[in-house]
Amino acid sequence: MAKETPYQVLLRDLPTHRRFEVPAERVGEWLKGLPMRDALGAPDPDPQAGHGTADVDLYADGAHVFAAGSFRGELMVACSRCVNPVTLHIDEKLRVTFLPRHEIPDDEDLDVFPYEGERVDLEPLLREQFVLAIPFAPLCTETCKGLCPQCGIDRNTASCTCEPPIDPRLAALRGLKIPS
Ligand SMILES: [Zn+2]
Ligand SMILES: [Zn+2]
Repeated sequence: MAKETPYQVLLRDLPTHRRFEVPAERVGEWLKGLPMRDALGAPDPDPQAGHGTADVDLYADGAHVFAAGSFRGELMVACSRCVNPVTLHIDEKLRVTFLPRHEIPDDEDLDVFPYEGERVDLEPLLREQFVLAIPFAPLCTETCKGLCPQCGIDRNTASCTCEPPIDPRLAALRGLKIPS
């Protein structure tokens, strides 16, 4: 028996249209452990984590269940340079197939999800929308100046007088005296 989640649809109810709301609490839970979320140091649960809405039509053809619709939402992650919060927006089309677990092909296909028993569970699909929305290195702005590597000050809002450390090998090349 598959575990209950709020994002399940019973096969006997197909075809159907469903709207699923994803609250902040769940977004925070789903993204726990991802570096760009953890770097925020957000409270747990985090009411600012994000949210989403899925509008999906579901229908069955034999044992195959097709889901098509849209997903809109947003989530908050840390800027990869200054660690300030960045809001990412999601506006995606959904088009996936649910297959009985034993029919799942071996090659990884993002558009195919397994189901078991009398219901399909859209939770993995919805979670994926948030995970895939996070770029490798999120930025608050393209021109973010980041943090000073010496003192940690946010260079977007303040300045410091730190000098970059001189690599001893470079200093030697320049004929500089290195204190030993
Ligand atoms: Zn930034
Ligand atoms: Zn500094």
